[in-house]
Amino acid sequence: MIVMKFGGSSVANADRIRHVGRIVQDALPRKPVVVLSAMGDTTDYLLEAAEKALEGTVAFDSIKDLHIKTMTDLGLPSSLNQEIQGLLKDLETLLVGISLIKEISPRTKDYLVSFGERLSVRIGAAYFRSLGFDARAFDAWDVGFVSDSNYTSAEVRKDCWPVIQERIGSLVSQGVVPVVTGFIAKDPQGAITTLGRGGSDLTATIIGAACKAEEVQVWKDVDGILTADPRLVPDAVPVEAVTYEEAAELAYFGAQVLHPRSMQPCSAVGIPVRVKNSYNPSATGTLIVSKLEKRGSLVRAITTKKNVTLVDIVSSRMLGQYGFLAGVFQCFADHRLSVDMVATSEVSISLTLDAPHDLAHLKRDLEKIASVDIKKNKAIVTLIGDVRRSSAILEKAFGVCNQEGVQVQMVSQGASKVNISFIVDNEEAPRIIQALHREFFKGGV
Ligand code: ASP
Ligand code: MG
Repeated sequence: MIVMKFGGSSVANADRIRHVGRIVQDALPRKPVVVLSAMGDTTDYLLEAAEKALEGTVAFDSIKDLHIKTMTDLGLPSSLNQEIQGLLKDLETLLVGISLIKEISPRTKDYLVSFGERLSVRIGAAYFRSLGFDARAFDAWDVGFVSDSNYTSAEVRKDCWPVIQERIGSLVSQGVVPVVTGFIAKDPQGAITTLGRGGSDLTATIIGAACKAEEVQVWKDVDGILTADPRLVPDAVPVEAVTYEEAAELAYFGAQVLHPRSMQPCSAVGIPVRVKNSYNPSATGTLIVSKLEKRGSLVRAITTKKNVTLVDIVSSRMLGQYGFLAGVFQCFADHRLSVDMVATSEVSISLTLDAPHDLAHLKRDLEKIASVDIKKNKAIVTLIGDVRRSSAILEKAFGVCNQEGVQVQMVSQGASKVNISFIVDNEEAPRIIQALHREFFKGGV
């Protein structure tokens, strides 16, 4: 059995759904379970409709039109039409309710966005049936998904995995292709919840892990994980394989591939995840596994995260003192600022912060214990690779920086076994990434 997850852009219209139908049909010998997101940007449109309803206007024509038109274009039977019209009616009733009470709780919001996935699986499954295979639409709770009540980013309960395995397993053994809603679940009280934006990947990996699937395929519109952002490095190439840890580091440091959280279920059980390109189905994509057989290239991928802030903190009193670091971090905690990279020496600390916050208050508080220098518009350059060979990586990387006349402003290595990161100026980042890519991938991957 395999799990195949298709995101919003893969099911954005009738044409894309036809294409997905062919991909699923080709996979029938491997007993696929399909997970679908809402069509196109439906989730965003639903949230916009909620905003309008709060202002007193019920308007969701674009959502309605997209689903009706897709059904017509795919020539789906009128029995489905009734079901879809029923859902659209419920959605309208809900929006009317919101427009009257002018208030929306997180719980109502989850109920609202759940329409996207509930509509898309019904259309998808009906179209697959028209291709001649026994596809059936399921809301995630009907195949066992139960979550906590943390609306808008609920956690699926681990104790429902055996139920998921049992239900999906029995459907698949009857020759059914289950087409399951991504992103949503129900809490023990029966209220609909969502797993956080991008949550359909997580639905797929939970099914894969619970059912011990052969593989979870996440279908995107790029050839898998690339060696660098193709907008910066046009000759970036797909990486053949990475570990879960490497994939998670890549995701944290700017590569928009999979949400780090979505890898957890599969990494816990050791189920391989494959990122595939729906525009290029014959390409093998990138395989994500727990351990790589081959030692592989020195560096697997290079990423960058721009617009970070570097904070240099120097204390003449740190020498031989205890409690200084605690004091510094307490300051960040008091200001609710999350620190990314850290490097320390005997008398100083450098660290980075995401997003450009207003740091005047933080600076004032820190200056009670140290002198502080805040530098904005920096970029983190991250090399994901085999850190057991860190000296070779660092030699090459710093050689490149030196040739480019770029001074590295902070370095961090060691906490993770796969990540070496350093800070440069924002404007220097593209040039450095390109030069590093030439250096590390000149001989291919
Ligand atoms: N439809 C949801 C979203 O746009 C979930 C997903 O696509 O994974 O976030
Ligand atoms: Mg989406």
